[in-house]
Amino acid sequence: MSPFVFGSGAPWAESVALPTDSRGFLRRECPTCHRLFKVRGTKLEGHLVFKRLSARVAHANPHEADWPEGVRHCPYCGVTAPDDRWFTAEQRAFLDKRAETFGREIRYEQLAQIERTLAVNPRPTFVAVRPERSCARLSAEPDDMRAVPLFCCREEIKVLESWLGAVRCFLCGTEHELGAALLRERLARVLT
Ligand SMILES: [Zn+2]
Ligand SMILES: [Zn+2]
Repeated sequence: MSPFVFGSGAPWAESVALPTDSRGFLRRECPTCHRLFKVRGTKLEGHLVFKRLSARVAHANPHEADWPEGVRHCPYCGVTAPDDRWFTAEQRAFLDKRAETFGREIRYEQLAQIERTLAVNPRPTFVAVRPERSCARLSAEPDDMRAVPLFCCREEIKVLESWLGAVRCFLCGTEHELGAALLRERLARVLT
């Protein structure tokens, strides 16, 4: 996923991106059944990261975060949810931590700005203290799970190796049966 620069141009500008595996897949979690899967990292995923961050930073410009809302489907249980509901627990914790740091940096910049403009003031009543930058990192994305082609949307999705049921398209909800060849191969593995 291409990094999304948050607060561009400002002193706290920083690029934030969720890690993808070597094929460009990004980990997702169903908000209902909590099973994990992977979708290709796209520009939309970058916007969702930005949306989550700016929703938690009071002074972020809401116009920058505007993006049409879509609905996505769980490949396993088929539940539908808005496209910003599919972060994994680890991604949510990471993004919220980042948002908290951004919020503190923005407040610091505002105070520092007042301090600068009041430079002629002989007795400043406060000193702005630059906050520590969070060094939280998400762990690298391993090349796990099995890729399944989604002919409906000319896409691919990665599902758990142990999943033997039908796989629903994350984008349009169409159900795909596991191929007979794959079932035979898995059955052979179980029987030997
Ligand atoms: Zn689900
Ligand atoms: Zn589809």
